[in-house]
Amino acid sequence: MDHSSRSNLPSMENFWMPFTANRQFKASPRLLASAEGMYYTDVDGNQVLDGTAGLWCVNAGHGRKRIADAVERQLRTLDFAPTFQMGHPIAFDFAEKLGKMSPGGPSAQLDRVFFTGSGSESVDTALKIAIAYQRAIGQGTRTRIIGREKGYHGVGFGGISVGGLVNNRRIFPQIPADHMRHTLDLERNGFSKGLPPHGLELAEDLERLVQLHGAETIAAVIVEPLSGSAGVVIPPKGYLERLRAISEKYGILLIFDEVITGFGRLGTPFAVDYFGVVPDLITTAKGLTNGAIPMGAVFASRKVHDGLMHGPENAIELFHGYTYSGHPVASAAGIATMEIYEEEGLLTRGAAMAEPFQEALHSLKGHPHVADIRNLGLVGAIELTPRDGAPGTRAYDVFVDCFKNGLLIRVTGDIIALSPPLIIEKEHIEIIVSKIGDALKRVA
Ligand code: PMP
Repeated sequence: MDHSSRSNLPSMENFWMPFTANRQFKASPRLLASAEGMYYTDVDGNQVLDGTAGLWCVNAGHGRKRIADAVERQLRTLDFAPTFQMGHPIAFDFAEKLGKMSPGGPSAQLDRVFFTGSGSESVDTALKIAIAYQRAIGQGTRTRIIGREKGYHGVGFGGISVGGLVNNRRIFPQIPADHMRHTLDLERNGFSKGLPPHGLELAEDLERLVQLHGAETIAAVIVEPLSGSAGVVIPPKGYLERLRAISEKYGILLIFDEVITGFGRLGTPFAVDYFGVVPDLITTAKGLTNGAIPMGAVFASRKVHDGLMHGPENAIELFHGYTYSGHPVASAAGIATMEIYEEEGLLTRGAAMAEPFQEALHSLKGHPHVADIRNLGLVGAIELTPRDGAPGTRAYDVFVDCFKNGLLIRVTGDIIALSPPLIIEKEHIEIIVSKIGDALKRVA
């Protein structure tokens, strides 16, 4: 069916949309029809600048022919093959390619790769690997996981248990987990550029939870190095280093959820490289295939991987996996994506663009209702003061206004989040900031 114009809209009845106020959306839908480079085109033919790389995933920009060709070729060659007790070469090739990227440098040995179908699956996988590893090394009482208030780790039962988004926690039952405090601290860190100076002491909450529960009950701690969905919370200077020191001291595995920070978002291949802090497991998805085909991957250290390989030769070492783990078509998309990242230098491009992005964003200080602006690499946030009695509505109005005027942004509560494709040029940065500035004035 051709839906490339508004005169031929789809029925709105059947698709139950995720994370969406369905009734509100369907009354006045925003529909994207095609995309190329930095721009979407909506069903009315309007160009919409992508300020969010889709959902933090289209790092190399839209419509990459190389990915499309690789996908088509793979679909025609081998559309599907199981990876349970069977294999196919392309999944091994992709894992090798990812292993060679060696997050944190070769000495980190974070190069054993478990494939999943999404970020949520990567999180659940990492949590299960952590618990299984502890058991395999004779630490079977370590079953508790520590996450953070405001953490977002996808929507599986594992992910919502360790995450701290209120709606997830209120509505659904969870597995045992505990949470460190995690605040934005606008009073001390307001309008900070890069890593905020204050708040390192928050890492000591891990020590408090170890004292409360006993190290012998705790398998792992999971954090987003920079949390996105909670409204862009950037770690204070020294914070991740301190978490690593405490977790190491007590034999607790450290998991970095890099679903949004992986693949160049901070101007380094991974956040691990930006911070120089090496965890035991990294979860990824999104930029892994440039968003083109769903796929996730968990990078495990050799220590963790090898710890699970010690049973009898014919035993299944990790009782876990997905029908689509290492899917051949997704692997083909992933390999093509990595080739683009390498050839165009995209995994470090954010380092060069971070400064103009930062200066442009901070020029919005002083606009109506702007309570904070913060940024790191190619991630930025503009936090607005909420309307009395109607939190979230001000940022939502800015989002709608921006879309009408040709810019896609993302809002969480009253926070505007920006994460443009890594191919962004200075002229796009100027457009983003000027459209947001205009919207802020109109909405005020
Ligand atoms: N972890 C983090 C840090 C995320 O940002 C997200 C998605 N925004 C997820 C996990 C879940 O990924 P998915 O939606 O692919 O399941």
